[in-house]
Amino acid sequence: MKMKPHLHGKRGADLLHDPLLNKGQAFTEAERDALGLRGLLPPHVATQDEQVAKILETVRRKPTDLERYIYLISLQERNENLFYRLVTDNVTEMMPLIYTPTVGLACQRYAFIFRRPRGLFISLRDRGRVKQILQNWPHDDVRMIVVTDGERILGLGDLGANGMGIPVGKLSLYTACAGVMPDQCLPVMLDAGTDNAAFLADANYIGTKARRERGPAYDALVAEFVDSVQEIFPRACVQFEDFGNANAFRLLQHYRDKVCCFNDDIQGTAGVTLAGVCSALRLNGGTLANQRFLFLGAGEAGIGIGDLIVEALKAEGVTEEAARRQCWYVDSKGLVVSSRTDLAPHKRRFAHHHPGVDSLSAAVEALKPTMLIGVSGMPQTFTEPIVRAMAKFNQRPVIFALSNPTSKAECTAEQAYTWTDGRAIFASGSPFPDFVLHGRTFKPGQGNNSYIFPGVGLGIICSQAKRVTDEMFFVAAKVLASMVTEQDLAQGRIYPDLQRIREVSANIATAVARVAFQRGLTDMLCPEDLASRVRSQMYEPTYPNFV
Ligand code: NAD
Repeated sequence: MKMKPHLHGKRGADLLHDPLLNKGQAFTEAERDALGLRGLLPPHVATQDEQVAKILETVRRKPTDLERYIYLISLQERNENLFYRLVTDNVTEMMPLIYTPTVGLACQRYAFIFRRPRGLFISLRDRGRVKQILQNWPHDDVRMIVVTDGERILGLGDLGANGMGIPVGKLSLYTACAGVMPDQCLPVMLDAGTDNAAFLADANYIGTKARRERGPAYDALVAEFVDSVQEIFPRACVQFEDFGNANAFRLLQHYRDKVCCFNDDIQGTAGVTLAGVCSALRLNGGTLANQRFLFLGAGEAGIGIGDLIVEALKAEGVTEEAARRQCWYVDSKGLVVSSRTDLAPHKRRFAHHHPGVDSLSAAVEALKPTMLIGVSGMPQTFTEPIVRAMAKFNQRPVIFALSNPTSKAECTAEQAYTWTDGRAIFASGSPFPDFVLHGRTFKPGQGNNSYIFPGVGLGIICSQAKRVTDEMFFVAAKVLASMVTEQDLAQGRIYPDLQRIREVSANIATAVARVAFQRGLTDMLCPEDLASRVRSQMYEPTYPNFV
């Protein structure tokens, strides 16, 4: 679908200053005459392809990734079509610049990068007027909202209001990867203070200079926000993003059956990891029911993955109790077992009867897992003896080092392949380069959530689903896994090439929408040609003709 060519009476300089309408030098001769643009642009009429080539060259010439990020955001601020054409056509190169890892640096320096506001900032001072704030947003058909309170930005901790870079970046991926219309996306920062001492002492900090509110006033702000969304943007889905884990689990639990919402750190991560597990089973010839999973880290990512694996096992006829017993966790205090009295509620459902074990290496020896999954944020914790032990118990040991950014990975791709003599089935959270061992090239998989959430979001939008269910992430994982080719697997890659992301998202969206129709989660009737309907709703970043 092309951007809607509604000019809203705009002409001349106003048109050039509207990022959704601006075409820059690509305005045709006829458009320049008809729309009062003559003389406001250099004489050469450029094609969009010429513009993309020029921008790409400029991006590559920038000295640092942060400079590249700043340049790309400024392009987005003046010409969204061109920005999305560039990102869509060069997604493998652009994604690490507009999202993780570069967006993390950008959030840390947000005060200096911030030029034009993008999205809505809602602080505790705004209680009682959140509805009016939402009404200030210039677009009225909002369908996807990404909201954060900035408490746990990537692996970087509490970045307060600077965390706004995350909703902005994530929504760009909804558009680039799944064709969600840019004017249907709304980034929101719920500023409830920060416990980041450096920011509190920094005159340039852009947020509220107060310690983080953790009491009823926080819950009241979130509740007012969620209620106001239902009233002002009733067709919007709310994605909770990068909340600290105490709030993340609590808010998801509280709102998931009341409004259309999900948490990508919990549910999206689970989807992408389950897809990786399915691909790994194709490589090791196993079945889900005969795996034993050991997680390092029992937070949002780890518990989310475990819960979805349990759903997948139940779908194969395994009882819930037996399914949970296939998933084991080591956190900072050792193995999560039922005799421990220090467990947060989200860990308790995976606390099994077992003697206490105080280290990962001892847990590996005791449990002999088939799959080892790192979601701890603790680098180099998959040590050589641990990885070698996995290779001793398993012909094809599965090692997922998912902690981000790269510096936090539990082990590197090179280590996993070297210590297992090339037998490891490896995936990471951040990309690792290809690795050659004994003349064979391995292409490490990246368990990037962008494989899942944009397609899920598009499916929700297309079906106007009123709720987001775990089943939707389950089918998304299955679709993603089904798109991994034999050629991918032969190279050790357990996810499809990122360049196929729009195709992946379209298929996921179709499957997710089908769940919404089958489960009665929408008032819409299911169109016969659902797959082509979904595709026809995807935004194409080509310029409209205005005359
Ligand atoms: P979280 O804060 O909710 O959980 C972290 C968990 O690690 C906690 O259970 C904590 O107890 C545990 N932990 C801390 N130190 C430990 C130690 N020394 N040994 C064992 N466990 C320890 O965070 P999260 O959202 O679950 O994210 C965890 C990591 O996973 C982050 O680095 C994040 O970047 C990464 N992640 C990756 C993906 C992906 O690759 N697709 C998605 C989400 C999160």
